[in-house]
Amino acid sequence: MPNLMLIEDELDIRLALTRALTERGHGVHALATGMAGLRDVVANPPDLVLLDLGLPDMDGTDVLRMLRAVSTVPVIVITARDDEADIVGILEAGADDYVVKPFGPDQLNARIRAVLRRGGPSGQEEPVVVGRLRIDPRRRLTWLDGEPLPLSRKEFDLLLYLARRPEEVVPKSTLLAEVWNQPYGGADKTVDVHLSWLRRKLGESAAHPRYLYNVRGVGLKLVDPEA
Ligand code: CA
Repeated sequence: MPNLMLIEDELDIRLALTRALTERGHGVHALATGMAGLRDVVANPPDLVLLDLGLPDMDGTDVLRMLRAVSTVPVIVITARDDEADIVGILEAGADDYVVKPFGPDQLNARIRAVLRRGGPSGQEEPVVVGRLRIDPRRRLTWLDGEPLPLSRKEFDLLLYLARRPEEVVPKSTLLAEVWNQPYGGADKTVDVHLSWLRRKLGESAAHPRYLYNVRGVGLKLVDPEA
């Protein structure tokens, strides 16, 4: 059962959403302020956060940015603003998706399921181990050589996607589609930029690879360096 954190100040909406989502098979931990959400997301990490942008104690976009600084948990923003610039800003601040009020619980549930699917089936996923690299998809944590390895959300997604397919050469266009949900044929600089950050964190480079190998003209593969 996915565990959701709902951050919504309006009591009526909080109760209605908690009931609707519980009926649809989710565990719901509901909070009324941004500060409570930021505290609990670290203490008790959920599978997904539903974040109302109109909160009394903090600006919702600030909550989102602060949340992103400490967690890679998927976030769906609940907004009353349907202005396009706001939505772009929300997505750039790290939201995975959004719903605009008013919305029905079935639409929200479908979006929750889609976001959770992108991150892989939640709940009982086994850690992925390749060599001295260990990835916990459920808690979205990574260790290298026994030490915690802090990764951004997309670095994590990229690493997990490749680690689930060790030795398999994955085209960058596939990574762009699967990890970034961008259509095939988009600019692949996105992959290159995140790849270089990821390599630095893994303590390797394109010239001196350990886990991540370029296969020229084809794509990328992740290997067990000790195999
Ligand atoms: Ca509100």
